[in-house]
Formats: sequence, structure tokens, C-alpha cells
Amino acid sequence: MPGYEVFGEEERRALNELFDANGGVLFAHGFDALRKGVYKVREFEAAAARTFAVAHAQAVSSGSAALRVALAALGIGPGDEVIIPAFTFVATAEAVIQSGATLVVVDVDDTLNMAPDALEAAVTPATRAVIPVHMLGAPADMDAVGRIARRQGLRVIEDAAQAVGASYHGRYVGTIGDVGCFSFDAGKVIITGEGGMVVTNDRDTFTRARAYHDHGHEYSTTVGRGEEGAIGEGFNYRMTELQGAIGVVQLAKLDAIVKAQRANKAKLTALIGELGIRGRRLTDEAGELGDAIVMFFDDRETTARFLAGLKREGLGTKNVPDAMRWHFAKHWAHMFEKYGWYRSSYRTQWQRSADLLECAIALPVMVKMDDARIAAIGDKLRRICREAL
Ligand SMILES: *Cc1c(COP(=O)(O)O)cnc(C)c1O
Repeated sequence: MPGYEVFGEEERRALNELFDANGGVLFAHGFDALRKGVYKVREFEAAAARTFAVAHAQAVSSGSAALRVALAALGIGPGDEVIIPAFTFVATAEAVIQSGATLVVVDVDDTLNMAPDALEAAVTPATRAVIPVHMLGAPADMDAVGRIARRQGLRVIEDAAQAVGASYHGRYVGTIGDVGCFSFDAGKVIITGEGGMVVTNDRDTFTRARAYHDHGHEYSTTVGRGEEGAIGEGFNYRMTELQGAIGVVQLAKLDAIVKAQRANKAKLTALIGELGIRGRRLTDEAGELGDAIVMFFDDRETTARFLAGLKREGLGTKNVPDAMRWHFAKHWAHMFEKYGWYRSSYRTQWQRSADLLECAIALPVMVKMDDARIAAIGDKLRRICREAL
């Protein structure tokens, strides 16, 4: 997720310009006399709405905050059940917990995204929302999720934190469900250090999201910030002008990032195909981001041998398995012990997900990989295969 690979001079210039142009106002709102018309967060939001062809975009302080704000904007809270996949970053679960809703975690399938049959089986009369997560740049099965959600009357919040710029049958992920959430943290596709965004095509959902991310502010067009009213409760999940200024620059690089990754992934995938290693099923091969290659092995022992080979050859992995602790529900004792859900079963629950994830390795694909580097990776993988498989 290589925003950090193409980060530097242009972003530095944007920060200098911010100080030169608006005297260093870093707050996204107010200070109208001082800032000389420079509103970088608003500019970032408008550019994102244009880029992703969505009606409304609300920048927030992180991807985690985006999820929390999205849940609040849909009015989800205590007494509601929210369904998430077992393979996601822990923040998806945390946002549900912080909303006061009950967390329901379901299996993933060989797409490594939410299994539609597991979603369907988990719906109860209390279920209000489902959060499909587009993991490792690849879209979840939004057709199936959407069908189930419509039939069961569920709201759909897309966690597109890892898939900014990916598309599903011609539409950007994040813009397909009721609300979409992006992250721009330091490891993501485009980065603002910390940052996130909530996108939606629904005006009322946007109004509630904007209010919730900023203490309930109604965003009046007639009175100043100090005098305006609140349309509901909220908190501070605001983005700063520093992040907004960098976001504008990074967003303009998104297309080039995705193009380069996809080209590099195609070359690496061809190599891995020659080796006879099974890959992940993709719901939209042309639309996925191409920043990771998932390889499946027959059993845990083979996976461990392959992983040892990667280490020996100096090749890294991407979250699977190096950060599984934070991405697979089986390891979230610190939440389940406290809240009681799955307290007795989290170690053995989600066996279908475990059988996939514990026999999987994800290789990172970078923006900057020349053919010599790709060929060298191919040589190393061939050596590892000879010894491990
Ligand atoms: C990174 C991430 C988040 C949280 O984003 P932050 O900006 O780091 O708070 C949420 N969900 C997924 C799937 C992520 O990868």
C-alpha cells in the first residue's frame, strides 16, 4: 500500500504553500479573515467526491474514526447487531463496540472477504447493518452482500480502508453501500499520516456524519460556528489542514499508484502461476488494487516451510501472517473477554477462516519494482518452492 513510496517533494511543497497562503491556519473551519480563502480539508473532500464519483465526502481524523462516524450517521447503537468479517483490521470491530452495538463476526471465504452464506446465516431480527471489508485491495462480493442486505433490511457500511481506488464492476468501492469508509494512515494506498474519509450518496447520512465528526455542529450557512446549533451528539474526529493539504497531493497520485501496482502484480502473478501456487479468488480481477498477492498452501506445515524460505531469501509478507494478531478475530481476546461475545469460543470459532488464513501468505506488491527486481523475486520463489513444496 504504497502511498509512502511516492511521498516527498510535492507533499512538502503543499505544506509550505499552506503556510505561505493562509498564515498557518491549521483548523479546517472558521478563521475566515485570517486564512485568505484557503480551505485544504474542503478542497480534499471536493476532490475526493469528484475522483470517486460520489455525492458527499467528509474528511475525518482516521479510518477508524470514519467507521465510528458512519455507524453514528446511520443511527446504529445499543440493541443493534452489526455483522463484520473475521478477517479485517481490529478497528472495524472497535468502531462497532464504541457505537454500543453488538458485534457479530462471520467467516470469510476464499476471497478472504466476508462469506455471503455466513452473513446470511448470522442475520437475526436485531441485525441493523453489515460491514463488508475490502481486504488487501480486493473488493468483497458486493452483489451478494447487497442482495442479502436488501432482503433483510440491513444498512451497508463498506470498510474500504485498504482499497482506496479499487473498483467493483465499474464503481469505486466505498460508493456502493449506504456509506463508505477510507483510511489514509501511513501504510495505506494514499496517505496523510493519519486520516480518513466518509463517503455517501445520501444527503441526510452526510449531514449526520458531518455533525457527528464535529460535536454535532449543524454547519450553518448563515451564522458563525460559535452561534450555530447542534443537530445531534458528536465528538471530535476532525481532520487538520496539514492532512488536507497532503491529501490533495496524494489523491492526484492515486491513478498512477494503482496503474503501477497492477502492472507489477500482473508480472508477479504470472511467475507465481508458473510455480503452480493457488491464489485468492477475486470478485473483480480488473478492479482490485494489485498491492498484494495471496498464495494458498495445502496445510499449515507447508505454509510454515514456505514462510521460512521467504525469510531466508529476505522477502517480506503483507499482514498475512506477520500481522494476523491484529487482523483475525481469533486473536482478539482483549475485546471478547471484556464484552462477553464469543468469550467461550473465540479460540475455536471461525474455523473456516482459520483454515484459509493459516494456510495463506500475502506478498506485497510495490509501486516501484523494476523488471530486475521482479525477476529476482521470481528466482527466489522458485528456490523456495523447490525446498518447501
Ligand atoms: C487501516 C484500517 C482501518 C483503520 O484505519 P486507520 O486510519 O488506521 O484508523 C480500518 N479498517 C481496515 C480494514 C484497515 O486496514
